[in-house]
Amino acid sequence: MSEIKPALATKIDAVIAVLKDIEQNYLPATLATSFGAEDMVLMDLICKHAPGIDIFTLDTGRLPKETYELMQTLNNHYYKKVEVFFPNTADVELFVTNNGPNAFYDSVELRKQCCGLRKVVPLNRALSGKKAWITGMRRSQSVTRSELPVSEWDGDHGLQKFSPLTDWSNGNVWAYLRANDVPYNKLHDEGYASIGCAPCTRAITMGEDIRAGRWWWEDPENKECGLHVKSN
Ligand code: SF4
Repeated sequence: MSEIKPALATKIDAVIAVLKDIEQNYLPATLATSFGAEDMVLMDLICKHAPGIDIFTLDTGRLPKETYELMQTLNNHYYKKVEVFFPNTADVELFVTNNGPNAFYDSVELRKQCCGLRKVVPLNRALSGKKAWITGMRRSQSVTRSELPVSEWDGDHGLQKFSPLTDWSNGNVWAYLRANDVPYNKLHDEGYASIGCAPCTRAITMGEDIRAGRWWWEDPENKECGLHVKSN
């Protein structure tokens, strides 16, 4: 187990302070996890320091087997259960019937429709009745996230949105996971920096942008699934 350096310890304390503030002032609140490295940092900190915060995930039905393996591991590792939200069955049936199982490769519009019914609609259910939600997004992950604040009003969903890891580097994330022996998705060991659905995620090579492996056939400015896009 590696040691935490003072600069990272300060960042960890700041995140714990944000989580405790959420627990005190914004319940019911929930962490959105897709079980990526950043999400695992937040899950670990919530279980240890702010257990009043809920945790949920969106199971799109197209996740990699490694993600399901991690979900199973976590079910026994932490005392908190991750609430799972599935897409509406009829929506998926209609989309796949009309467009085929891999239509997301055909156009940005079909890709966004697939993300919409498999992620955005279930997200709305997951956030219903909550006062705040928490994400593992960081500023350095993507051009679409370069000005991400720690706390902002999410007008699309009508609740406060927190991203406590905004100023963390990739190195910070992995130093925390290693020092605390936190379980993580084994795809990270195979070059996957950001992990989503299996058909829409690939490994990246040295020097590539950290989100280059997500929807790699699209322009960088299109690379959000609709979960974090502002309408204004
Ligand atoms: Fe569909 Fe791909 Fe979006 Fe997953 S990431 S919901 S498979 S388009």
